[in-house]
Amino acid sequence: MVTLEGKIYVPQAQREATEAALVEHVALTRAEAGCLSFDVVPDSADPECLSVREAFLGPEAFAAHQSRVAYSAWGTLTKDFERQYEISGLDEPVTKDEILMAKALALADAASEVGEVPVGALVVLDGQIVGHGFNQPITGCDPTAHAEIVALRQAAQVQANYRLPGAVLYVTIEPCLMCVGALIHARVARVVFGAREPKAGALISHPSVVDHPSNHRFEIAEGVLRDVCGQRMSRFFSNRR
Ligand SMILES: [Zn+2]
Repeated sequence: MVTLEGKIYVPQAQREATEAALVEHVALTRAEAGCLSFDVVPDSADPECLSVREAFLGPEAFAAHQSRVAYSAWGTLTKDFERQYEISGLDEPVTKDEILMAKALALADAASEVGEVPVGALVVLDGQIVGHGFNQPITGCDPTAHAEIVALRQAAQVQANYRLPGAVLYVTIEPCLMCVGALIHARVARVVFGAREPKAGALISHPSVVDHPSNHRFEIAEGVLRDVCGQRMSRFFSNRR
């Protein structure tokens, strides 16, 4: 993952024009393939400056973004503005787990668009996505409609099998107790999640199966696109406040 954090200094005379161009710039960038997050907000400490925070899946997506912006209305308007940027991850190759987690993240965004807590999940079997889902308990009037359960149900239907041996579940946030139970019932082989859920997480935060006599265990991997997955949650809850 490539991240960029920093500041852009907006000259007084250009402030209005910049504000007007920013809305389009943010919308276009968030719609780019490989853009994981993109936020440009007024700096709380310095009114003359904007805070920039962005994440792209890998160096290729980041380069594509930069070349698009160079010739955009935003790029033209701001090309001489002073910037202080820190970029990291340019030499890190994109992993398969990150590619799939980025897809789960897009599902999390589908949840927040309908006012649900942004969690997205995918079930992958033999390299194919066989189930996907986003969190929807409120809209579905269904306390069990967590992203993982929705994805598992679809995968089981596709496979015509109530068990999914060899399957890998990707989810943006650490699964809860109910979902960990369902993942055991489904006999998945591996669970990959993004950010921990300190309150309800039942894999690492509050390990629920360590002493459980169940004879099925799955491999756990955490921290894939962690910061971006976690930010989606904090942004959702701060917007609601
Ligand atoms: Zn759950």
